[in-house]
Amino acid sequence: MEKSPQRETRDFGAEVKQLLNIVVNSLYSDREVFVRELISNSSDALEKMRYLKLTKKEIADEELPLEIKIELDKENGTFVIVDTGVGMTRDELIENLGTIAYSGSKKFIEHLSQGNERDINLIGQFGVGFYSAFMAADKVEVYTRSYKREEEGWKWVSCGSETYTIEKSEGITRGTRIVLYLKDDAKEFSDPHRIKEIIKKYSGFVPFPIFVNGERVNTIKALWTKNKKDITKEEYTEFYKYIANAYDEPMMTFHFAADAPIAINAVLFVPEENYERFGLGKFEPGVNLYSQKVLIQQKCEDLLPKWLRFLKGVVDSEEIPLNISRESFQGSALASRLRKVLSGRFLKFLREQAEKEENKYIEFWKKFGNFIREGVATDSDFRDDLLQLMRFESSKLDPGKLTSLDDYISRMKKDQNSIYYINAPSRELADAGPYMEAFRGKDLEVLYTEDAADDYIFNLIGEYKGKKLVSVDQENLELPELRGETPEEEMLPEDEIEEFKNWLKGVLGERVSIIRESKRLVESPAVVLNPEGFTGGLQRAVQAINRELGIKSPKILEINFRHGLIKKLNTLRKKDERFAKIAAEQIFDNALLAAGYLIDTSVMVSRIYEILERAMAFQIQ
Ligand code: ADP
Ligand code: MG
Repeated sequence: MEKSPQRETRDFGAEVKQLLNIVVNSLYSDREVFVRELISNSSDALEKMRYLKLTKKEIADEELPLEIKIELDKENGTFVIVDTGVGMTRDELIENLGTIAYSGSKKFIEHLSQGNERDINLIGQFGVGFYSAFMAADKVEVYTRSYKREEEGWKWVSCGSETYTIEKSEGITRGTRIVLYLKDDAKEFSDPHRIKEIIKKYSGFVPFPIFVNGERVNTIKALWTKNKKDITKEEYTEFYKYIANAYDEPMMTFHFAADAPIAINAVLFVPEENYERFGLGKFEPGVNLYSQKVLIQQKCEDLLPKWLRFLKGVVDSEEIPLNISRESFQGSALASRLRKVLSGRFLKFLREQAEKEENKYIEFWKKFGNFIREGVATDSDFRDDLLQLMRFESSKLDPGKLTSLDDYISRMKKDQNSIYYINAPSRELADAGPYMEAFRGKDLEVLYTEDAADDYIFNLIGEYKGKKLVSVDQENLELPELRGETPEEEMLPEDEIEEFKNWLKGVLGERVSIIRESKRLVESPAVVLNPEGFTGGLQRAVQAINRELGIKSPKILEINFRHGLIKKLNTLRKKDERFAKIAAEQIFDNALLAAGYLIDTSVMVSRIYEILERAMAFQIQ
């Protein structure tokens, strides 16, 4: 590495190199976002400065106005942005514009480099917005000086390749000046008309004056302090784009103001998309905390519970002292009061949405339902509110239609005390399996929980509004006796049943722990149940682990003694025991298959050939 007393050349961190490689070499339709990113960084630096001025009187000596200036030079093809924010020290320069610390940013870069370059316009949401400058420029200079009095000015230069240089720079006042030497095909960004248009689109809510070639281009408005009635949908969208560095439109907007139990003014947005679904890492907290329009903390972690981390927006409460530090806010009684009020009100808003705009709510549930589930599983304070928001398919509804637990309860039969559900990879599989038979027979509604997390949640909570949550493949299932049921088929006599069970136990040996009479079966001869008490998705997960570990878990086998096949098998075992054993093995394997277990298919195939041969021989005779 070159090192002289004046100028030092340094390598970018590995992830930055990877990112720059993509930024420099890809073609984009949306590279105007770099303007938004640089303005947003200046705005952040100015917010920090304003806060320091208010809280630390001793550093407010320099009377520089807090503002952003953009200077455009068409002739030389340059774009310059200047702010009077907090600036950066040498160490901060190296750390902020040379390395990547957040795991979220790393995930994002990984995602981009896997052929998803077009998602580059999301750059501002992943903590690496500065590097978007290299979409439009082939060389970037950063001149900066920290607000800290003893600090000197620094100059940082890079062409977006492997390295950058850093050196001392004289005659700089507090703040940051960034010079972009525009690429030949990006000269449009030295045109004031173009830049003003971009600012209008993304940066309308920057709370500091922005000048373009000396002309003031924005008016300052703190949207959340305005009366709801006076705010248009477009203004909300514009504000969302500003506050979330977002490119999309919000799926939902929630604005509320209250005086009691705490004075609060909040605008919260649900984004269009849930990036966690695509493995893009976890959402970083996205709500900023203000007190009387002064930014106290960006992306405040303590303001909302973790399961609401997908929300973007602002919360302003005049009850927060201006000089509160991050540390003293964290874990404070005030923070927990705010969190309670905000979560409670937001969940109420979701319930109202579910009623008023069902389709919109279902879209929300499909995209963001995992956060609701996470809340149920981890936050007992809001469990009941969250459970009301869950949605499921149901045996009583057409495929694709969803219902809530409350709606299920409203449809329950008179003598029914439990909410029945089944977890299966798909509705078709659940319907085809043996577990649904008795429920169909008794016309009882069953919810389909496709997500294994639902199964986990139902196991965890056990009941809802006093109704037990019962998985239909549960081992000790007891179905209610309903009035007006149809008479049943004749059963094998008691003593025959006992004899048959003993015989079958001898055939299947260790593989079954208990063989008993089934009360749930109508169409199938047999069903297997899991004695560990796991149901559905959990049961399959446990089986996978057990197979890995070589553990064999014996099953409970329930037999339908009204079924023709079982009755015939009972007769056959007395006449031709060898063949009866083969048939019994096959019935057991079929039951395992129907329950979603994996079995040794090679054994089964040769066995089926033998059975077929017998069946055909019988026909030909
Ligand atoms: P983010 O803004 O999400 O942190 P960026 O890549 O946009 O990510 O910026 C990285 C960091 O560089 C900022 O967090 C900030 O510390 C620093 N920075 C960038 N621009 C400025 C600026 N104009 N003034 C002061 N610091 C800045
Ligand atoms: Mg930024």
